[in-house]
Amino acid sequence: MPTYKEKYKTIDPNKPVVALTFDDGPSKYTKKIIEFLKENDACATFFILGNKVPIYEETLTNMLKNGNEIGNHSYSHKWLTRLNKTELNNQIKQVQKIMKERFNYTPKYLRPTYGGVNERLRNSTDLEIVLWNVDTMDWKIKNSKKIALRAISKVKSGDIILMHDTYERTFKAVTKIVPELQKQGYQFVTISELKEYQLLNKVLESN
Ligand code: ZN
Repeated sequence: MPTYKEKYKTIDPNKPVVALTFDDGPSKYTKKIIEFLKENDACATFFILGNKVPIYEETLTNMLKNGNEIGNHSYSHKWLTRLNKTELNNQIKQVQKIMKERFNYTPKYLRPTYGGVNERLRNSTDLEIVLWNVDTMDWKIKNSKKIALRAISKVKSGDIILMHDTYERTFKAVTKIVPELQKQGYQFVTISELKEYQLLNKVLESN
């Protein structure tokens, strides 16, 4: 079984960075998003649902091969803050388990369902909770240009953009967002790479 590690790219600390994140997948659109990212030398972080792993093994393999990162978005999209401790643990641990078993991969980050966080959730996991700065509202807005415009007009360096790889319009929006932001000098990074970048910049600032 191969071991997937994050392939750290060379990130220029003087250029802006942005992390695209996709929740609720994989879906039939995920493959197209991964291919587009690869063609454009970009990557993203996919916060997946554990119950979709068996259906999309090939997609997930390609996701990892192409330098993307996978995070935990619960097993079956239950509202985590409304669960008791046992149910909550199961929702998180089942994803860790299936990713370890099938890909020898351990997600490091948790994106809570509905962005909901409470004390019980914080105490029940070692995974780092990752929310977002820019919400594209792609679940609501039906027009890919408008989705793209929200991302492009609101983003600043270091931001995390929230999208969902469960819509065709989101794929189309990605094909607009990536080239436009690259033209502006943005580097697309995973959440792990973003943390590295922030750490590096802190070190550079303190010297
Ligand atoms: Zn979700």
